[in-house]
Amino acid sequence: MKNRYFIPLLAASLLMTGCGASGSAKNTASYSRDIFAMDTYMSVRTYGGGETALDAAENRIKDLEAKLSVTIPDSDVSRINSGGGKPVEVSSDTLAIAKKAIEAGDLTGGALDVTAYPIVREWGFTTGNYKIPSADRLKELLPCVDYRRISIGDCSVALSADQQLDFGALAKGYTGDEVIAELRKNGADAAVISLGGNVQTFGKKPDGSPWKVAVRDPFSPEKDMCTIEIGEKAVITSGNYERCFTGEDGKNYWHIIDPADGFPADNGIVSATIIGDSGLTCDALSTAMFVKGLEGASELWRNDRSYDMILVTDDAKIYYTEGLIGVFTNTSDMPSEVISGD
Ligand code: FAD
Ligand code: MG
Repeated sequence: MKNRYFIPLLAASLLMTGCGASGSAKNTASYSRDIFAMDTYMSVRTYGGGETALDAAENRIKDLEAKLSVTIPDSDVSRINSGGGKPVEVSSDTLAIAKKAIEAGDLTGGALDVTAYPIVREWGFTTGNYKIPSADRLKELLPCVDYRRISIGDCSVALSADQQLDFGALAKGYTGDEVIAELRKNGADAAVISLGGNVQTFGKKPDGSPWKVAVRDPFSPEKDMCTIEIGEKAVITSGNYERCFTGEDGKNYWHIIDPADGFPADNGIVSATIIGDSGLTCDALSTAMFVKGLEGASELWRNDRSYDMILVTDDAKIYYTEGLIGVFTNTSDMPSEVISGD
C-alpha cells in the first residue's frame, strides 16, 4: 500500500509551525486523521477547520466509495456493470469521472481504458486471487475492451452488454479533489492529504514555505528516490510495485494492464508520477503514461505541458520534465535526466 511511505515525510513537513509569511495558513493549529477506505490507507492533515473539516472530508470519501466501488453491489459502478447494455442513472460524481475516462482514453490513444476491468479481474488484481490468465481467456476478453463504446447521457452511463468498467485508475484523484473542496468549504486555510500515496495540497504551510513531497523508489519502495517542492498541486504515482505478484513462471506481474494485449504494461516504465492542478487528470495520466512508455509519454507531455511528470525506466534512470528544474531533488543513486519541451 502506497501511503505508508508518504506519511513520515509529510508528517515532517507538517510539523514545521510558526507563522508570519504573508499568504500562508492563517490558522497554524493542525488537525489530522487516518482513514481506511477504497482498500487503501489515507491521511488528511488540515490547518484550520478542525474536526468539522475532517468529518466533512471523511464523509465525502465514504460517499464516493459507496458510489464508485466495483465491489459494493449497489454502487453506481456495479449498477453500470450489470446494466446489460441499458443506460443506468448515476450520480453527478460518477458522470464526471466517466466523462474524464473517455477524454483521457482519447488523449492517450486508449492507453487508459476503464473497460479493461474484466481483464484486471481475470488476473486477480481486484480480488487478490492472482493468476496468469490463459491465452484463450485473454482472447475471449480483449474484444470487450473499448472505452469508445461507453455512452454518456445527461444523467446516465451505458456500456455495451459484453462490457464492464472500473474507475480504479482515476477515482482516487477525483476523491482528492473533492476532499480538498470539502476542507476549504469547512474553514481550512491549508491542507495536505495522502490517499494511498496520491498526495494533494492546498494553501501554504504556516511558515510560508512550499510543501515538500517525496516519491518512492520503485526498486526499493521503502525508500524515497526524490523530493519535489510544490504549491497547490496533486502529485500522483502509478508504480509496478503496487498490487503485483510473481507467477509460476518466475516473472513479476503488476496491476497496470496494457489494453492492447491484456498483459501488465511492459513498455519500459516502472513508475510514473504526474504533478498538476487536478487530481483527477493526474491520476488518469499516471496510469496512462505508465502504459505509454518514455517516448509516448514525453510526446504527450510536449503537446500539453500543463502538468509535469517524473518517469523511472526499468534500467534505473529517472526522467523529469523541465518544469521541475529547481524544485526536483534526486535523493537516489539513479542518474536523472530532464525531458525538454523541444
Ligand atoms: P493506478 O495506476 O492509478 O490505477 C491502476 C488501477 O486501474 C488497476 O488496479 C486497475 O483497477 C485499473 N487499470 C489497470 N490498467 C488500466 C488501464 N490501462 N486503463 C484503465 N484502468 C486500468 N481494491 C480492492 O482490492 N478491494 C476493494 O474493495 C477496493 N475498493 C475500491 C473502491 C474505490 C472507490 C476505488 C477507487 C478503488 C478501490 N480499490 C479496491 C482499488 C485499489 O485502491 C486500487 O489499488 C487503486 O484504485 C489503484 O490505484 P493506484 O493508485 O495504485 O494505481
Ligand atoms: Mg492512476
